[in-house]
Amino acid sequence: MRSVVIVGASLAGVSAAKSLRKHGFTGSISVVGDEPHPPYQRPPLSKQFLAGTWDRPRVDLRMPDTLGVEWMLGARAASLDAYRRDVVLADGRRLPFEGLVIATGARARRPRWYAERAGAFMLRTLDDAIAIRDHVRAGARRFAIVGAGFIGSEVAATLSALGCDVTLIDIEPVPMLRVLGEPIARVCLRAHEAHGVRCELGVAVEGLTGTSSAQGVRLADGHVIDADGVVVGAGATPNVEWLDGSGIVLDDGVACDATGAARGIDRAVAAGDVARLDHPYYGSHRVEHWNNAITQADAAARTLLGGAVPHVAIPFFWSDQYDSKLQLVGLPSPTDTIRVVEGSLDAPRFVALYERDGVATAAFFFNSMHRVAAYTATIEAAAREATPAAAP
Ligand SMILES: Cc1cc2nc3c(=O)[nH]c(=O)nc-3n(C[C@H](O)[C@H](O)[C@H](O)COP(=O)(O)OP(=O)(O)OC[C@H]3O[C@@H](n4cnc5c(N)ncnc54)[C@H](O)[C@@H]3O)c2cc1C
Repeated sequence: MRSVVIVGASLAGVSAAKSLRKHGFTGSISVVGDEPHPPYQRPPLSKQFLAGTWDRPRVDLRMPDTLGVEWMLGARAASLDAYRRDVVLADGRRLPFEGLVIATGARARRPRWYAERAGAFMLRTLDDAIAIRDHVRAGARRFAIVGAGFIGSEVAATLSALGCDVTLIDIEPVPMLRVLGEPIARVCLRAHEAHGVRCELGVAVEGLTGTSSAQGVRLADGHVIDADGVVVGAGATPNVEWLDGSGIVLDDGVACDATGAARGIDRAVAAGDVARLDHPYYGSHRVEHWNNAITQADAAARTLLGGAVPHVAIPFFWSDQYDSKLQLVGLPSPTDTIRVVEGSLDAPRFVALYERDGVATAAFFFNSMHRVAAYTATIEAAAREATPAAAP
């Protein structure tokens, strides 16, 4: 293989380029990205960047000078001609490839009631974060945050630390309920309340108020939350439309086998938020976490180079909210039981295990970073034992 085209110039795409070089690929690598900026990190966008404590170039992705790739930034892949093996750009250019890495990630999901207008924001890109930050700097003080998932909760924490008056709204009765389960989600709720964030929970949003600019949100129970700014964190949608009709199998992302090989076309792999892998332990599964984009990109690069190994990394993410660090290893389900194994839910730090039929499926760490490695080994071993045939 002499040429690889990587579509998506963010964490998974850049990690794939690094891994290709690390594993000995000396051919040409072109990286196509539709954003105009050099690749950057998304996690600080809702944290340090929004807070104003980090700026560019601190959020940029670090890259060795020796990577030797051709950057094609501000260029959107419009389609894939799998027969000729060309990526077709929106401006009509065709990029022939022998190997293809699909790393187009995801975009912020847009609720049906959302309408573009001044003062209404979603948060996925650097430009989104700049727009919210500028709005605060221009004097906006009252914010309605719709969606109390990780991004919404982080934005609420950051804006309240900046002195804003914040209302956090979600249809669920507690923040991050589906990911964390009720007892731990309640700890997060207490943190918001302790920092003066008003929580309007268990209620749907019907729409934005204001015509030329967002002046708040209207709730399904008739209440109106007045605000100078509205930030919506309603999840993410994988960027796969450019692959429609290409023969690549799409299923809420790019359907891949366990090694990252895309189904439906040879010598094409996917990694990161866009990839739905057949995980040896968890089955068909798409992960939207920072670590996963790196480890999957490495597996995908090796697959492209002919040394396929299944991607067996255990899901891991972190979130920073107020002065707390939250980390989760593994894949809990809403019916798992939760057992606190170190500290207590009222303590400033604790560790909790999620268990199914007495077997640990995940571990949650509240201000307990130093314990992550030890419990990760436990979760990995339990997952491996539960699926012995799948273990590499
Ligand atoms: C605000 C925010 C905070 C986060 N915080 C955390 C955190 O604390 N912890 C954690 O574990 N994870 C966090 N994440 C998730 C993490 O950042 C993502 O999992 C990671 O960015 C995924 O990388 P990716 O390269 O797969 O996709 P992306 O980062 O989405 O990159 C995909 C790139 O491809 C481009 N693209 C899409 N379509 C095309 C096309 N047709 N042609 C060319 N280019 C295209 C996109 O514009 C984008 O630049 C956060 C995400 C956000 C948005």
